[in-house]
Formats: sequence, structure tokens, C-alpha cells
Amino acid sequence: MSTLEQNLAKANAYLERFKNDGVSNYIDGRPVPAASGKTFESVSPIDMAPLADVAHGDAEDIDRAAKAAKDAFAEWRDMDGKKRKQILHNVADAIEAHAEQIAFTECMDTGQSLRFMEKAALRGAGNFRFFADRAPQARDGQALQAPNQLNVTSRSPIGPVGLITPWNTPFMLSTWKIAPALAAGCTVVHKPAEFSPLTARLLVEIAEEAGLPKGVWNTVNGFGEGAGKALTEHPDIKAIGFVGESRTGQLIQKQGADTLKRFHFELGGKNAVVVFEDADLDRAADAAIFMIYSLNGERCTSSSRLLVAESVYEEFTAKVAERAANIKIGHPLDPDTVIGPLIHPSHEEKVLSYFDIAREEGATIATGGEKATDGELGKGCYVRPTLFTNANQSMRIASEEIFGPVLTAIPFKDEAEALALSNAVEYGLAGYVWTSDVTRALRFSDKMEAGMIWINSQNVRHLPAPFGGVKYSGVGRDGGDWSFDFYMETKNVAFATDAHSIPKLDS
Ligand code: NAD
Repeated sequence: MSTLEQNLAKANAYLERFKNDGVSNYIDGRPVPAASGKTFESVSPIDMAPLADVAHGDAEDIDRAAKAAKDAFAEWRDMDGKKRKQILHNVADAIEAHAEQIAFTECMDTGQSLRFMEKAALRGAGNFRFFADRAPQARDGQALQAPNQLNVTSRSPIGPVGLITPWNTPFMLSTWKIAPALAAGCTVVHKPAEFSPLTARLLVEIAEEAGLPKGVWNTVNGFGEGAGKALTEHPDIKAIGFVGESRTGQLIQKQGADTLKRFHFELGGKNAVVVFEDADLDRAADAAIFMIYSLNGERCTSSSRLLVAESVYEEFTAKVAERAANIKIGHPLDPDTVIGPLIHPSHEEKVLSYFDIAREEGATIATGGEKATDGELGKGCYVRPTLFTNANQSMRIASEEIFGPVLTAIPFKDEAEALALSNAVEYGLAGYVWTSDVTRALRFSDKMEAGMIWINSQNVRHLPAPFGGVKYSGVGRDGGDWSFDFYMETKNVAFATDAHSIPKLDS
């Protein structure tokens, strides 16, 4: 048996339970079907085979989940931080113990390749450990001296929160949103993406088996316009942490207006990697290729715009095109595969449409630009890694988020033009700058409109550092203490420290 066949056999064994029992909601410590009894079908993008019937949650299910989260809130909020820390570490241990099941399920559900997903559980567990360690200090505040008063601040969890996640690396992203909320003392209603419901279901179950009290974490499946909308409108839900498209963020902000929700948005991007002529060009090429063609390009921080100094543009883009053409496309469970199928036929259609747009706009397709149909690939949503050259910033391929393994390369004359091009999009999530001139790096990053910038580096996530975007890429920051600021309310109590003068209004 080949490794792929062995992996497939294991994956099918893991998927058996979902085939037989479907994917239920999980409310107040129990698996439950949708109140309406309705389900929707989840398919694998590898070959369109049905994976499971998924509970089609709606407003009624969200209401039940919000009530469960509200009922569980006081006990979870008031629990000793050290105990909360221990429970969250137990959740991390349990995630690691299920690493293979999580990785194989994620590959089959999303099309992401095993070489990246085998670390998904470890990263998810890492998110839980990082925030678990901070749980005992989450309520701490400051003592601020004034002439006649001592101001003491403290934080308390805001209440039950709603977390809405997308289909790209859904397991890792769910842990990234849920772990800080729980560590802060909030209870959670999670609405996973409809295209990728399987690992979210594993996650809540694993957490409860590891000792999380019932009702603290509830999961409702369903679609954005149903369950998602109801969650953002629910009066018992105090804040919404959302990861997804910018357009959806706009809708959610409107939906939550009547209940004055607090929002945290991690949205789309069209991130530039800027390569100056004095850069280490080999390392810059490695990073540019990695940041757009790993994870099928379905990554918010992908370097989807390649801005290169014109003196090295031809040489650099020729190298990227040659290497992109050699990237292995294949079954996600084949250990050699880099690029698997895109998440869903509707997303594949969107990505393919940009190949036509590129041609209409007059760009050159230096490599890729088509669906991959060789052999078994023809059954799934496979797209070839693509590089557009001969492009300019006014083209749609240079300004719109494509969210696939598709890179648009544009030359620049000098630093001023590189900066203008970098900032000429409505997004501002991440930026990557390659130069050996440290003064230029400082000057450039200061003016670059992005929430996160890496200099001579690919995206290496450091959990204590702030994560988030500017412009249409997001509102707010995650990571370190920034996460707690979102999930908690700050209270100030001022104590008089002497008999200071109080104006008498009646004399
Ligand atoms: P999406 O916005 O279509 O869906 C995300 C989630 O929102 C899903 O669970 C969906 O059901 C829900 N939803 C949709 N409409 C809703 C509504 N009206 N009310 C409430 N919920 C609603 O996004 P997607 O296509 O699943 O994910 C891809 C997008 O996510 C890309 O734009 C990507 O850049 C972005 N993303 C951003 C980050 C970041 O950190 N900035 C990280 C990952 C993904």
C-alpha cells in the first residue's frame, strides 16, 4: 500500500462517524440536531464525495445556544483563574492527543494538504496553552495615582460572545478565536463556516471531554444569512469576533447595531511583498513563493501582490514562474502534495474567473491560469499555481482578493513608486519588505498601510504580538493582551486619598 492509500484508509475510518451520524450542533454539553430537523450536505472538494449531513442551524438554535452560554457564564467568569488555566491546558493536551484525527479530517473537508495540516493541531493546542497561561492575570489592572485619588482599574469578561469563523484553516482559526475568549472568562457560541464544519465539531467535543463545563462552549452550524445573522443580532451575545470577508464584516456591523455589539474583525487582504534590488533575492523568492502557494493561497496574509524593482523584475519573476510550475498538485493526503483542491466549486469558479479577467485586462499568464484536470484531479476543485506578469495596479487582478494560489507581479521604478503601489488597495492586512538597507526598511514600513509587516521574513506568527489589519482588512487586534482587551470590560474605581475640596452648591 502506498502512503497515500494508507492515509486514505485512516481518513475514511475517521470520517465514518460523520457519514453515519452526521454533524450535529453542540449545545449545553449535548449533541443536538437543528431545531427544524433540517440538514445540509457537506462534500469533499477532492472529488465532491458527500462527507456528512450537517445540522442546518437557524435563529432558534442560536437562541438555545445563547441561553446555554448565558446560563454558564457566571460560574465560568467566577472560576479561579488558576483552575481555568488548568482546564484550558487539559484542552490543549486533548487536542494534541487527537492530532492525526484532526489533520486527516481537515484535509478531507477543506482540501488543504497534509504537509501543512499535520501541524494544525499543534498550533491549535499552542493557542490554548498561550492563553491558558495568561488566564490567572486576565482580570488584573492598573493603579493610577492622581493628586487626591487612587484610580484602580480591573477587567471582567464581557459576557457570552459569538465567534464566526471562515473555511480557510478552520481548525487553527477556531482555536485562535475561542481560546482567548475562554481564557478571559467569556462563554462562547461558535458558528463555523458552512463549507468546513467537521473539525469544529471535533473541537468542542474534545474540549468537553477534557473537562470544560457544559454550556461554556456551544457550536451551531448553518449558513451566514441564518445562524450567522441571528448570532450577531442576539441580545444576550455581547460581542462578535469575526474572521471572514470584508463585505461580510460590513453586513455584520449593521446587523449588530440594534444590540450595540462590540466587534472584532479580521477581514480580507491583498498583501504586497516588496522586493528591492538590494534584497537577498533567493530568500525573497522562497518567501514570496511560500506565502502565496502554501495553504492553496487560501490565506488572509498571503503575499498576493509581488512588487519588484524593475532592474531585477524580469529575472525575479522568471524564477518565480519556473518554480511555481514545478509545485506538486495532488491529493491532500499524499505527503508530497503542496497544493490541494480549493475549498468548494463556487470558490473555484471565482478563482478561475480571474484567469479570464487577467486575459481581458491584458496581463500575461506567465504560468498556470487554468484548472488542473490530469487524471483524478479532474474530479476536484484543483487550480494550477498561477503568476500574472505584465500587470499594473489599476487592474482588478492587482486590487481584488482572489484567495487562491494566484500571484500578480508589478515592477516599480523607485521607493516612492513601491510605496504608492503598496498602499493603492482598499485592504491593509499584511506587508512583506525585502531589502538590505535597514534605514529604508524603517522608513518604508512606517509609511506602509498594513497592520502587520515582516522585513526580510515570511509570516512567522508570534502569539504575544498584535495581529490584525487596517482599512478594509479589519478592526481591532488579537494576540497577547490585545485579545483580553476585546473580550473584557475595563472598570475604573477612584478612591479619595484625602479630604479634597468638594464644591458646595448651596452656599
Ligand atoms: P465569509 O465572510 O463568506 O464567511 C465567514 C463566516 O461568516 C462564515 O461562517 C459565514 O457563514 C459567516 N457569515 C456569512 N454571512 C454572514 C452574515 N450576514 N452574518 C453573520 N455571519 C455571516 O468568508 P469566507 O469566504 O468563509 O472566508 C474567506 C475570507 O476570510 C477571506 O476574505 C479572507 O481574507 C478572510 N480571512 C481573514 C483573516 C484575517 O485574519 N484577517 C483570516 C482568515 C480569513
